[in-house]
Amino acid sequence: MNVKSTIAYFSMEIGLSTKIPTYSGGLGVLAGDTIRAAADLNVPMVAMTLLYRKGHFQQKIDEHGRQQEHPVRWEVDEFLTGMPQRASVIIEGREVYFRSWRYDVSGVGGFSVPVYFLDADLPENSNNDRVLTDCLYGGDQRYRLCQEIILGFGGVRMLRELGYNDIKLFHMNEGHASFITVELLNEEMRTSERTSIDQDTIELVRDRCIFTTHTPVPAGHDKYPMDLVEQVLGDNQAFKEIKYIFHYEGVLNMTYLALNLSRYINGVAKSHGEVSRMMFSGYDIEAITNGVHATTWVSEPFQELYDQYIPEWRQNNFALRYALSIPQQDIWLAHAEAKKSLIRYVNQSTGSGMDEHILTIGFARRATVYKRANLVFLDMERLRQIAREAGPVQLVFAGKAHPQDEEGKELIKRILYYREKLGNVIKIAYLENYTMDLAKLVIAGCDVWLNTPKPPLEASGTSGMKAAFNGVPSLSVLDGWWIEGHLEGITGWAIGPQGRKRGEEVTEAEEAQSLYDKLSNDIIPLFYNDRERFISVMRHCIAINGSFFNVHRMMQEYVLNAYFH
Ligand SMILES: *Cc1c(COP(=O)(O)O)cnc(C)c1O
Repeated sequence: MNVKSTIAYFSMEIGLSTKIPTYSGGLGVLAGDTIRAAADLNVPMVAMTLLYRKGHFQQKIDEHGRQQEHPVRWEVDEFLTGMPQRASVIIEGREVYFRSWRYDVSGVGGFSVPVYFLDADLPENSNNDRVLTDCLYGGDQRYRLCQEIILGFGGVRMLRELGYNDIKLFHMNEGHASFITVELLNEEMRTSERTSIDQDTIELVRDRCIFTTHTPVPAGHDKYPMDLVEQVLGDNQAFKEIKYIFHYEGVLNMTYLALNLSRYINGVAKSHGEVSRMMFSGYDIEAITNGVHATTWVSEPFQELYDQYIPEWRQNNFALRYALSIPQQDIWLAHAEAKKSLIRYVNQSTGSGMDEHILTIGFARRATVYKRANLVFLDMERLRQIAREAGPVQLVFAGKAHPQDEEGKELIKRILYYREKLGNVIKIAYLENYTMDLAKLVIAGCDVWLNTPKPPLEASGTSGMKAAFNGVPSLSVLDGWWIEGHLEGITGWAIGPQGRKRGEEVTEAEEAQSLYDKLSNDIIPLFYNDRERFISVMRHCIAINGSFFNVHRMMQEYVLNAYFH
């Protein structure tokens, strides 16, 4: 069998649906949206990832604000189809076998893109090896390395077993998948019966590889001590021959591996492209700004609205440009419905007693230090005063901390502390267990989407784009995609002292000050006293940002600039 698929897309995590809990955050959701775009636009793609039978954990928060992690139970064969093929990789000298499970993502026109989940839970393997694909970002460094070996080497081998012999391009979504380059070198040596790797072999492989980097700080990139790699990987010929390219001071850097063996490299927003070029000088790094999948992230009420006024929007996201002609009243009604669903959920699940007529600010994303969920609380007295004098506000939070991220967990506790402190003036809720479904509910149901990352750490961010599709403006620090999507007072509001040059020192106090000023001088008065202008901002979010920050535009850029260039 020879299956036609031109592009193989590799990602450590893929967010297909809440029911398939094999994603942890933005990276995985982007991968899912990318595949959905390929299906919509008939791009011949096949995707490869790992299965994670234990999923990304289920989050509970106890009465002290401590996050508790429970494994997610999900029935793999309820959603995925087991494939008969087997493949193996060598780990610490043992042959570790794995199988794959298939899920088909269907596009708007009926074209479909298969996703394969690799699974080492086979009776042929020892108990220690059977659990290698169980946990997403769990375990120690060795565990993670084994997973990347299965994804990279194993993913390519499984594609061949499945009959994909015509793959023209391999797209690595972040450095976790970089070992595919080494496996392609091994293949190249075998087929050309070369005994060593020369420059031509490297060029042949490089010509087929595309790499998207996502991490704007050096410490965030996957690195392994070379001793560990050699011990786990053993006698891998291609690896032994090329390790001089990317190992540095006894460390294997997965990003350098991909950088050196890819024909096309990109960051995920214009500014992230610039940051990456500074971080990795000497490499040509382009930028393709992320987008989100419209029909996945638009709430029901807005889907109905768009179907009525812009019927072609599902196939052609660019048509959302015409949202400017949707009557204001209808936009407000659709939003009110989405908001009602959120407030009902918040009140039922937390008993917060929130009011659907009060300006509701949303903040939901991974709970990790650089996202700074606590910035809005830096000056509680000021916040109280704003709520009393400018107009009432309420705040909805959600987000999981990585199980090993103690500071992230501390952040959740802090929010619950502020909830107690401010409770008599400002209602605050922390919703448990942030998933794709909850994201859609929270993002669409708020009036304003808050984002306060520490620049330049937000490579792109996508939740603000999802908000724009639902007519929800952002109040955000200028970082990642917002540098491109922000038009002051038209698509939302920027946080941060204006008129500073990039890189100039800005204190958190100044940022918080600016956040408070925007709330009390611009947003709250607009929301309560000038509804028409507020709705005009909502409409521009859809027309200006929805028509651009969609994954159809992103996929077209990949096709034109990366895949078939
Ligand atoms: C969109 C999404 C994210 C990414 O949010 P950012 O604010 O861009 O970090 C993370 N998690 C889930 C579940 C999402 O749907």
